[in-house]
Amino acid sequence: MRASAYPLIDVDEAAALVLERTPVLGVEEVHVGRAAGRVLAEDIVAANPLPPFPSSAVDGYAVRAADAGKTLTVAGESAAGRPFEGALGAGAAARILTGGVVPEGADCVVMVEDVRVSGEHVTVPAPLTAGANFHRIGADLAPGDVILRAGMVLGPAEIGIAAASGRARLPVRRRPRVALMSTGDELVEVGTRPGKGQIPDSNRWALLAALGDAGADVALLGIAPDEAGALRGFVTEALGGADVLVTSGGVSVGTHDLVKPLLESIGTVHVGRVKLKPGKPFTFATLDGGKVAFGLPGFPVSSLVTFEVFVRPALRKMQGFAQLQRALLPVRLGYDAKATADRTEYQRVTLSRDGRELVAQTTGSQSSSRLMSLAGAHALVRVPAGEKGLEAGTIVEAMILSLP
Ligand code: AMP
Ligand code: MG
Repeated sequence: MRASAYPLIDVDEAAALVLERTPVLGVEEVHVGRAAGRVLAEDIVAANPLPPFPSSAVDGYAVRAADAGKTLTVAGESAAGRPFEGALGAGAAARILTGGVVPEGADCVVMVEDVRVSGEHVTVPAPLTAGANFHRIGADLAPGDVILRAGMVLGPAEIGIAAASGRARLPVRRRPRVALMSTGDELVEVGTRPGKGQIPDSNRWALLAALGDAGADVALLGIAPDEAGALRGFVTEALGGADVLVTSGGVSVGTHDLVKPLLESIGTVHVGRVKLKPGKPFTFATLDGGKVAFGLPGFPVSSLVTFEVFVRPALRKMQGFAQLQRALLPVRLGYDAKATADRTEYQRVTLSRDGRELVAQTTGSQSSSRLMSLAGAHALVRVPAGEKGLEAGTIVEAMILSLP
């Protein structure tokens, strides 16, 4: 073992360094049918009024309010997409269907339930209110209204309003292209039988899921051996089309830990050790062409916790999200959380509801090799470095992974 040359830095400092050095990606246009989950890059302004014509809210009769209480002649029909031609005179009514254009001359719609029909005549009640039962031009959107703002995530309603205002394509931030690889001579492809001393590569699949969930387009690169030349070959190939390199393993100070020296030789390492448990050897580097590289530790829990603490916020920044961090919610500790003297610890917890409160229970042994401590966890509880720890009953802010 050799001593590490990298200073041990605080987790918040490391997270800030990562975000500072992570670029926001460029803009592309996508069809509304492919826009779900993307982040809007520019404000969208309504070009036309919505509705674009006075539109009936009900099935009934379009009339003049001044004709209240009278028996009127039915002059025609205005169905959705098939307007009544011409203007409506006094003493006349037009049958109208929901979404039909209210004819010129009419100023209200009477619901079909409220009229009496006899042949070509209809008797309407009194009094009638001008403006009743239809949506005025521009009632929902006026031209020039900002309907969606840059930084908004496009969900069903946002996509719906964009399409309603006639926008087929939307400017969104590009998704980060991430090259993902594992490192380690002990790793075999999942599904093949491990020989003596070998284990399945699980990080690649866990991180593939995490990256997909964070909005990345992933190129899967396989398992690089613990050999400097081969590793360099993998990384060089990976960087061709990628914005981001994510590796797991090979970042601690053992002799087989080759990722840091490699990143140093092709870029600048800004973070090499963090006062974080799990995840002390987390590594972050910038490379030529505005690319960034994350060297995640090999222990499965460490790789996923450092993903949440550092990589996800960076991917969100690249995509233009206004909110980079996961939601923090106050929870009550249901256990005594022991602290680590010199490192901030992210403990994995399940949450349950107790009245108005969320109560956090530990998932058991917090060993960084024990993926079961993260499986099924709802949140990460941050326990500050020190001697004291946090007693059961303490209210803390938890980083929510999923709510129960
Ligand atoms: P390293 O960071 O390479 O020293 O690895 C630390 C520990 O994590 C070792 O026990 C490795 O076998 C394990 N490990 C590294 N990479 C993976 C992986 N892709 N899948 C599962 N375990 C891994
Ligand atoms: Mg290794």
